[in-house]
Amino acid sequence: MSDPTDYDEGYDDLLDAIDDSEGYYLSCPSGHGSLPPRRVCPVCGDPQLRETPIPDVGRVVTYTVVHVPTPQFDGAAPYVTAIAEFGDVRLTGLVAADPDAVSVGADVSVGVETFDSERRIVFETL
Ligand SMILES: [Zn+2]
Repeated sequence: MSDPTDYDEGYDDLLDAIDDSEGYYLSCPSGHGSLPPRRVCPVCGDPQLRETPIPDVGRVVTYTVVHVPTPQFDGAAPYVTAIAEFGDVRLTGLVAADPDAVSVGADVSVGVETFDSERRIVFETL
């Protein structure tokens, strides 16, 4: 499991990079992908991490339609959150599409949008 503190620290940087179309992930020689910041591969512990650009197109691995939102998303339901695979890394984000338009295996692009006054990873169906 990743340390949630680590993740939070790098999350804004990740959003900045994705917003500038310069998003990248870290890949080790064995092909494990992870999100920055990291010093070693979280899967095999290899310290030789290479910055790899996040591909333009990803694929929805799984998604959830949220009908009963948390209070901060009140008024936005139903909405879709998805995990999409971009190369060797998986990102979690909101999907900017009608729930009926989302399916496993669908191609999506990744961007950053402000949603409910917080910047979030957003996927667009292609
Ligand atoms: Zn590895």
